Amino acid sequence: MSVSRITSLLCLAAVLLAPAAMAAAFRTVVIDPGHGGHDSGGRWGKVYEKHIALDTALRLEKHLRKMGYRTVMTRRDDRFLTLPQRVEFANRHREAIFVSVHYNYTWKQQVQGVETFYFNQDGWNLANHVQRSMIQRTRSEDRQARFARYYVIRNCKLPSILVEGGFVSNEEERKLMKSGGFREAIARGIAEGIDRYRKAEETTKGRPTGARG
Ligand SMILES: [Zn+2]
Repeated sequence: MSVSRITSLLCLAAVLLAPAAMAAAFRTVVIDPGHGGHDSGGRWGKVYEKHIALDTALRLEKHLRKMGYRTVMTRRDDRFLTLPQRVEFANRHREAIFVSVHYNYTWKQQVQGVETFYFNQDGWNLANHVQRSMIQRTRSEDRQARFARYYVIRNCKLPSILVEGGFVSNEEERKLMKSGGFREAIARGIAEGIDRYRKAEETTKGRPTGARG
């Protein structure tokens, strides 16, 4: 077992033992389309992560609203936002969760699949539901829910995840993400995962939310 593998297991243990910090009953979803403006994110030819992430995020917003959630977006057009600006915006909301939408990139062109990152325990629960639902919808390779220290999920006080809906650097997935049908499947998967997380938290915790301050 590698050192990094041991470290991530220790982090996972710490995450699971830590008390849940935030109320699970939320009605607002803060949607954060990754990158924007001069920051394209992963890029291959004419395929830009920032555009695909924004389109997926707008589709996610539509699904969540249909399900009765309130949504707010860190950006709705092709503009640059710093990571602290995104976190500051998210932390202004109460009874909310934070979902950052990205697509992946690596120099190893054969790598593919969908993954979801979390930093704390609430994020872990949310990440697992969202990851499972995305895989059900897309049938993509399952790279699973993973611990990471990305700035936005580390600093956001809400239950937070960062979704990676496939690799811009992989030919097969790049072809898929250019189609609205695939982006729709990712968006639907995220929305269904969020809804399953909310229902699971309600039944397992079963606490009246008003009593939690
Ligand atoms: Zn990204």
